[in-house]
Amino acid sequence: MKIHRLAGRGYASNCYLVESDGHAIVIDPSLSLSDAQRAIDGEWPTVDLIILTHAHFDHMLYLTEWRRETGAPLAMHEMEVHALSDPMKNAFSLFLGRNDVFAPPEMLLRDGSTVKVGKEVLRVMATPGHTVGSICLFGEGCVFTGDTVFTDGDYGRTDLWSGDSHALFESIRALTACQHEGRMYPGHGPDGDFRTEMRCFMR
Ligand SMILES: [Zn+2]
Repeated sequence: MKIHRLAGRGYASNCYLVESDGHAIVIDPSLSLSDAQRAIDGEWPTVDLIILTHAHFDHMLYLTEWRRETGAPLAMHEMEVHALSDPMKNAFSLFLGRNDVFAPPEMLLRDGSTVKVGKEVLRVMATPGHTVGSICLFGEGCVFTGDTVFTDGDYGRTDLWSGDSHALFESIRALTACQHEGRMYPGHGPDGDFRTEMRCFMR
């Protein structure tokens, strides 16, 4: 598995291209397809699936373009779907003064769902708190944490739509209990070693 971290536009949300065997999943399409293609050396993979870690504007700035240009289906947590059609919930209106809405996803995810990319599998862990349908994705040697947790003991805000600080605390506690080895790839900022980063929360 090859992981490309691509810096998104505006708000510096990370977009990840997870590649295996000529196929790829894009996580949080926050930069344009052409910018992503420019950033990748070598052959551009077939994009099989687009996943949102959650439905906030800064993680889906180019979602419509990616769906249209790649034809790839969208997958997201079932509790997060209604944010696609509501600019208040997806925060486009609050941050950008725009009323962007999106077509419903082709695939619904829930805790324990798995998705395939090439020879690899990503497993969904529901981690509500930053939003009600926030997820983390676990793969061989990697965890994508969206805006649930970042490196250096930082975590997602809970003052936007469906944010819940108690739920976030419980999600972080569940993450600290994960015996998973590998890199942590958050929705913002640099990546880090997952176990080391989660120890920041155990004090
Ligand atoms: Zn967010």
